[in-house]
Amino acid sequence: MSSHIMPTYGRLDVTFSHGKGVWLWDKNNKRYLDALSGIGVCNLGHTHPAVHDAICMQSEMLIHSSNLYGIATQETLAKQLCQKSGMDNIFFGNSGAEANEAAIKIARVYGHQQGIEKPLIIVMEKSFHGRTMATLSATGNPKIQQGFTPLVEGFIHIPFNNIKAIETVLVENKNCVAILVEPIQGEGGVNIPASDYLNKIRNLCTQHQLLMMVDEIQTGIGRTGQFLAYQHNNILPDVCTLAKALGNGIPIGACLARGKASTLLTAGMHGSTFGGNPLACKVALAVLETLDTENLITSAQEKGQKITQLLTEKLQNNPKVSNIRHQGLMIGLDITVPCMDLVPLALQQGLLINVTNEKTIRLLPPLVIDDAQIELLVTILSSLIQKQTQQ
Ligand SMILES: *Cc1c(COP(=O)(O)O)cnc(C)c1O
Repeated sequence: MSSHIMPTYGRLDVTFSHGKGVWLWDKNNKRYLDALSGIGVCNLGHTHPAVHDAICMQSEMLIHSSNLYGIATQETLAKQLCQKSGMDNIFFGNSGAEANEAAIKIARVYGHQQGIEKPLIIVMEKSFHGRTMATLSATGNPKIQQGFTPLVEGFIHIPFNNIKAIETVLVENKNCVAILVEPIQGEGGVNIPASDYLNKIRNLCTQHQLLMMVDEIQTGIGRTGQFLAYQHNNILPDVCTLAKALGNGIPIGACLARGKASTLLTAGMHGSTFGGNPLACKVALAVLETLDTENLITSAQEKGQKITQLLTEKLQNNPKVSNIRHQGLMIGLDITVPCMDLVPLALQQGLLINVTNEKTIRLLPPLVIDDAQIELLVTILSSLIQKQTQQ
């Protein structure tokens, strides 16, 4: 493909020209069922009319003014997101990494205010928080850090889904100020922790006066069957980051904060030229409204259940399929052998899937997927797995 693009991605040999709902078409007009939603971005599917209308209407009014002035759509979006999340205020950026950068800066300021010179943030192995220098340093994956030393200091990595490991760090380090965690690790292999993991983290954070910072960039916006994944646990973190599906493809990121954490970044301490611009905020408002009007969040739980159940039925006799799990429409299938070649094979058959952590098939289908599309997804995927694992 184009030699004028830096080769930072291993791209598949396909180019899409248009899409509708769960479908994408390539330039030869071949149709693909998108079971990845552009990596958890297009939760409303492709070219949703509500998103299209919001873009058209807002672009006739105003696309960008500047954060030097008031922005009405940003105020409205912040109010709605705070109501839905239980948070108090929001900083808007344009991506997940930027949302996490804001969270990390909040944690640093929080530490300094307590006289901690070198504040430490507890992060998890196999986590993913972004590709900027601070967020890749927070990320628990050596491959993502490879080549970019010196890393940003102030992060300590411990195993995911392990409360004891947090307790040990807290005993050994008096300078811990925050814990940053994904409710379900996405890039790390759709790792779903114990159902009370976040509750226990909440308790530890309260007890030790740490900020509980939840990276909901992949799990948020209805993906797991709640608006935010931490809502399964009936808790409130101190900081929550969002991006991916918030704009259904229009870039927007958000760092939501509550209580003390919401007071730490003041005038001049942080900023973003494009962050929270009228267009992105108008689209995000349309996304929030559509999730409600089409009842997509509750149905995500049922649909995820259905896909998992059907896949389990079809693959239960296959010894190379070791686990199938889901929370809402965030679905992982573990294969006992590396299965990256399933991705191009599925593509040939008109299905877009992803493999993370070499052996985990990750499905993040649009929340608008219907029963017939679920059947098709399951049929193509299960027969492909059967065929490939029998060789
Ligand atoms: C995708 C992702 C990010 C990074 O978001 P970008 O928009 O690519 O910067 C951070 N955290 C999690 C959990 C993600 O899935």
